[in-house]
Amino acid sequence: MQKFDPSERIHDYLVFGEFGDVNPSITDSSTYTFMSPDKMEELFEHEIEGCFLYSRHWNPINKYLSNALARFEDTESAQVTGSGMSAINCAIMQICNAGDEIISSHTIYGGTYALFKNFLPKFDIKVHFVDITNLEEVKSKITDKTKVIYCETISNPLLEIANIPELAKLTKEAGAKLVVDNTFAPMIVSPSRLGADVVIHSMTKYVNGTSDCVAGCICSTKEFIDSLNDINSGASMLLGPVLDSFRAASILKNLHSLHIRVQRHSKNGAFFAQKFRGLGIKTYYPGFEDHKGYELLKSMMNEGFGFGGMLAIDVNDLESANKLMTMMQEEKVGYLAVSLGYFKTLFSSPGHSTSSEIPADEQEKIGLGKGLVRFSVGLDNNIENSFARVEKCLKELKLV
Ligand SMILES: *Cc1c(COP(=O)(O)O)cnc(C)c1O
Repeated sequence: MQKFDPSERIHDYLVFGEFGDVNPSITDSSTYTFMSPDKMEELFEHEIEGCFLYSRHWNPINKYLSNALARFEDTESAQVTGSGMSAINCAIMQICNAGDEIISSHTIYGGTYALFKNFLPKFDIKVHFVDITNLEEVKSKITDKTKVIYCETISNPLLEIANIPELAKLTKEAGAKLVVDNTFAPMIVSPSRLGADVVIHSMTKYVNGTSDCVAGCICSTKEFIDSLNDINSGASMLLGPVLDSFRAASILKNLHSLHIRVQRHSKNGAFFAQKFRGLGIKTYYPGFEDHKGYELLKSMMNEGFGFGGMLAIDVNDLESANKLMTMMQEEKVGYLAVSLGYFKTLFSSPGHSTSSEIPADEQEKIGLGKGLVRFSVGLDNNIENSFARVEKCLKELKLV
């Protein structure tokens, strides 16, 4: 695979504001004037470069952010949305019709799981949940109704790795689209270069990195993104999850520091993972050489960004997990909160929060232990000190 550096693509994307400002001007308007009615009519028919109609359709700052994201994921085009869930929804609704089928990993974000399991059946879209690391199982579910194969690059919360190149082959043979949620692995993996047709991010997480807003994006071919924006039939235009332009402006600024943040999240994540394991705690981290997906992830990774800042430990039972999280917050390790990719460490118990949409028996089947604590390790400068605080909690609770 040819070397690719997503950060370089963002670095080389220069946009100026109205007066040569170093940041592009923020669009403070919902609608745009036309010098002639003819031009307006033309815009209803097709896109005109640099010409805007109405901010739910497109607005300049959202276009700038989308362009930067397309460069970063190495796709022809991209579209920002008001949340990660709306990005997933728009992509799925655009591709699938009633009667179609989706094959999805069963270890996905709880909200996506609930959408697939509880909501899509209302539209007669059937989802088969599979162990995405088992390609034979994926293959066995393919029918002529299959329109989407869906996975997360690094899955939530057990950090399993999807074999994107192999899944892309299966998807292509099936005449379907491979949709990959890359929220856990920005910079680290570039799914479109490995054959994914559509790449999704919840920008709420790492891409923005300051936990101050909810946002999403869809990166794909120009044809697909244009179809999402079609005035008469586009899911994004008609379902309407437009991202606010002030937020788009702030996310664009944060995107420029993403490479440094990911490097530090990875460094700190690896440190925590090794220390936990050193204490004899069951630890899930894809940077461990004996992790099931280690070699696969290595083969898909861009150089220099590490294995990410997400890890999970299992302290056996929910009571211990709850005590540990409460104490870690008191000791200022970070916050007991869902979400990830924040500059501070966040921890939560997936079975009772982000994966609670997944029924208990299913949780057990996929190996989601009751004592699981998921960490999104922060940007701490003194990570040794941060772990010393964690260790103090573990010892006081007699967990080590
Ligand atoms: C948070 C998250 C989502 C949903 O994104 P929102 O921005 O909260 O709508 C989807 N996928 C993954 C992997 C996530 O972590």
